[in-house]
Amino acid sequence: MPTQAAWDCSCPARCKVNLNTIREVKQPRFADEIVKWSPGYAWLAGGTWLFSTPQIATDTLIDLRSLRWPALAASNTGLDIAATCTIAELYGFQPPAEWTAAPLFQLCARAFLASFKIWNAATVGGNICMSLPAGPCHGARGPIHAPAPRRGLA
Ligand SMILES: Cc1cc2nc3c(=O)[nH]c(=O)nc-3n(C[C@H](O)[C@H](O)[C@H](O)COP(=O)(O)OP(=O)(O)OC[C@H]3O[C@@H](n4cnc5c(N)ncnc54)[C@H](O)[C@@H]3O)c2cc1C
Repeated sequence: MPTQAAWDCSCPARCKVNLNTIREVKQPRFADEIVKWSPGYAWLAGGTWLFSTPQIATDTLIDLRSLRWPALAASNTGLDIAATCTIAELYGFQPPAEWTAAPLFQLCARAFLASFKIWNAATVGGNICMSLPAGPCHGARGPIHAPAPRRGLA
């Protein structure tokens, strides 16, 4: 049975799901608060896949949204995309006119065979880490030479 702590999570509805192996939901303010990894840990991003099927081997969720990273940060050197950026946020990005590869983001997002609810919850990092064959974020990552997620960042 889950402990009470798993059900006392303050995030609205997100953690009150029927993953009955979960005993703890960690909500770190900073990524370096997670100093030790255990086999039962899983990063929780949008939760669209995590909450869609039993996670028998998982006992602890680490909620990435509590890190409150800015979804997108454009600068002269390029675009930083947070692992926690949702597909919908990436779709809505308004690039400078000279960023000729940027329309690829919308094309790739449209390749996501998911409902608008998933679009608004699923993250870039979660999609890359799932690595499913129809993963839209892989399509977007290749042509712009974006690095793979490093711990938290896509
Ligand atoms: C109805 C439905 C339709 C779907 N359609 C598609 C589709 O068309 N294409 C497709 O590719 N997928 C699809 N999926 C699968 C999945 O929902 C997506 O891949 C989604 O992008 C996962 O993102 P998420 O943020 O919800 O990840 P989560 O469900 O939160 O996590 C998914 C996995 O990635 C890990 N993870 C998440 N973020 C990180 C990170 N930053 N660092 C390390 N590990 C991380 C989690 O621990 C977990 O193992 C679908 C799922 C459903 C339920």
